[in-house]
Order: sequence, then structure tokens, then C-alpha cells
Amino acid sequence: MSDGAHTERGVAEPGRRRGTNLPAMADFNQLVILDAVRRSPAGLSRVELAVLTGLSAQTVTNITRRLLDAALIVEAGKESIGPGKPRTILRLNPPALYAVGVHLDPTVTTAVLLDLAGDVVLERRILTPLGQHPETAIDALVEMVEGVLTDSAVDRARVAGMGIAAPGPIDPIAGALVEPPHLPGWHSVPLRDELSRRLGLVTVLEKDVAAATIAELWAGTPAASTGSFVFLYLGTGLGAGLAINHEVVRGSLANAGEIGHIVVVEDGPPCWCGLRGCVAVTCTPEAIVRDAIAEGLLDSLDSGDDTTAVDAALTMLAARAEAGEAGAVAVLDRAAARIARALAVIANLLDLDRIVLGGPIWNRVADRFVTIIPAELDRMRAARSIHPVAIGGTTLGDAVAAMGAASLVLDRWFSPRTESLLLPSSSA
Ligand SMILES: [Zn+2]
Repeated sequence: MSDGAHTERGVAEPGRRRGTNLPAMADFNQLVILDAVRRSPAGLSRVELAVLTGLSAQTVTNITRRLLDAALIVEAGKESIGPGKPRTILRLNPPALYAVGVHLDPTVTTAVLLDLAGDVVLERRILTPLGQHPETAIDALVEMVEGVLTDSAVDRARVAGMGIAAPGPIDPIAGALVEPPHLPGWHSVPLRDELSRRLGLVTVLEKDVAAATIAELWAGTPAASTGSFVFLYLGTGLGAGLAINHEVVRGSLANAGEIGHIVVVEDGPPCWCGLRGCVAVTCTPEAIVRDAIAEGLLDSLDSGDDTTAVDAALTMLAARAEAGEAGAVAVLDRAAARIARALAVIANLLDLDRIVLGGPIWNRVADRFVTIIPAELDRMRAARSIHPVAIGGTTLGDAVAAMGAASLVLDRWFSPRTESLLLPSSSA
């Protein structure tokens, strides 16, 4: 993640401390306090903050005063706990800061605006402009984000930046998409800097699967509570986001999680990588639709490259499976069993105990997949007699990758990264 030479926006407190720039004044303890308040929606008193963080009462008082001045937190009433003075409850001030998240999927592009609490203020979707020069697509993205900012009527000075989630491989240094499959014509497009320049926002770029994983971690979902999980992302392509001990795994240059060439069908169809029966040619929406066509369940498509047509065909197939049509059920079950094989490889490699599924395809196939995957996975899982694996859909919905991209921006304002600096928790 690199900001390049982009302008950092401050948190303007109208009439009081305009131009206050949190990173500039933030020290580690301040991030610790802010993060503690964020994770307690009911609020915390200064005394509770001191106990939670191990910081002295004076330090907590000083820092919370700064955060109150910057309007990042607010006083939210008083609470009496036993004898003595009632304690003032401090809460996060969600409208103090916002972040934009954009998920560029080859089929559908999603944009969200998150507030400081990580809640979605506004969400918007468009069909991804394909078959055009990337410049045309960038025009559409700029228009989309401008629309989100205008329609939400937020003060631009309070927008901390924008995160973009995009299919890999990405070049995190150049902030570019590098020939992503399903996005013809996108050869080393410097998406991050171009959007940053056009929109005047600090912009970060993240691979889509990593962004979805970050969304889980940031929102503190059940998956995130275990700290180590795989997020299987079902979009136009399939990818895996990995979290180990509450940190997203990015790999050496942000491209971890390419599971497309795990072989799941022996002697399956040839893949462009040279192998046969890879995930990339047997488990994608296009592969599932082709399977249904081969079974005579769907009419053939004019072009398998037409992601919108593939998406519509998958919707039809899923509806017929839901209505109980045996052939349609069999096609989805076959895809689920193949995906279970890939998940077994990942679960065995990392000894994970939780799998989260999501992405734009998920809702349509969820019923069959949650029926088939657990048993199939356990047939192939080495540690099956030692611990179970929890499998379930994301609780964050279809916009999970866009939310993750936006939370990347917010995360920069919150997360105290240096674990070794933490004070021991107070036992007094
Ligand atoms: Zn392959």
C-alpha cells in the first residue's frame, strides 16, 4: 500500500480546528484509544479506557480531549457505577470521517461510502463498462464516485480517501492492474493514481480477495473473531483471501490467494496454464454455465467472454435449482464439490478452522454450496478428526470487497500496528 505523492486530507472541524490532521498529531497511544472506542459501540468511560489500554488516567484524559476537539469521539451521557461521580461515556462520532470503497469486478462495479464506524452510508452498483478502453471505464468510475459523494451530501473535507479493490494480479507499487483475466485491454493501467488525480482523494489499491478479508477483520465478524480464516471469493473469477492471526496475508507483492490453478478435476478441460481441470476452468460462473449448457439445461451463449450474459445465465440456473429442478441442482452440486476440493488444499496447508464464502455469485449458489461443501471438505481434510471447520457465507453482503477497500482507508486512522509497544493490561 503506497500513497505516492497524494495529498493527505485532514479532518476539518468547522469553526474550531480546521485542517487538523490526525496522522500528524496521532501517536500510538491515540490510535489505541480510538480503536478501543470504535470496538465498543455502547461507549466507554475514561476509567474503562485506562483499564483496557493500560494507559494512565492523565494520558487518557489528554488524548480523549484531543479526540473530542477533533470531533472523532463525542460525549454520550453519564453513567453511574456504584458510589462516586457518574462517569462520562465516550463514543465514536461516525459522521466525523468517511471513506469511499470501489470494487471493480469484471461484471459489476460497486461503490460504497463508509462512515467512521464502518457502516455503509450509501451503496451504488453499475455494470462494469467492458470491451472499452480503460479510459472509458475510468470515466465511469469517476462519475460513479462523484455521484456517491454528491448524493450522500457529505462534507468533502471529511472524506479521508478511497480504496479500490480489483482483481489480481496488481502492482501495488505502481498502483496498477496488470492484465487481470476477464478485463481485456487492462494492461498495466495505473488505476490508483489516475483516480486519485481525477477525484482529488488519497487512493489505495488492494487485490479484491484481500479487501474482502480486510472487511471481515475490520467489521469484527464471527470469522474475524477466530483470527485465522480463508475468504473464498466467488466473482467472475475465484480467489482466496487469507487471514492469519488477525492480519491479512498479502504475500511478497500483494498478490497472495491465486487459487485458480489448483487442479480439482482429473483429466478436466485444458487450462491456459498448461494443466487440466483447474479451478479457473471448472468452478467459475462461466464454467458452471458451460456445464449446464453441455447438459442441455441452458441455451448456448454467443460468447463465453460476455460476463453479463454468463451472469444472467447463472441467475437462471440458480433459480431453477432453487425450484427443485434436478438437473440444475446437479450442476451446482458438482461445482460445490469441486470448490470443496480446492478448499481442502487450503485448509490442509494452513490448518484453518473457518471458511467464509462471499462475492457477487455467493447469494445465488449459497443453498446448494452450504449443503454440499462441508461433507466434501471433511472427506479430504487431514485434521477432520481433530477439529471441525466452520463454513458459512459472509455477513457483510455483496459489497464486501468495496467495504474492505474503504475500511483500508479507515484502518490507517485506527490500527495500532506495533504490537510490541502495547503496555501490559492493568490488573489493578
Ligand atoms: Zn490452470
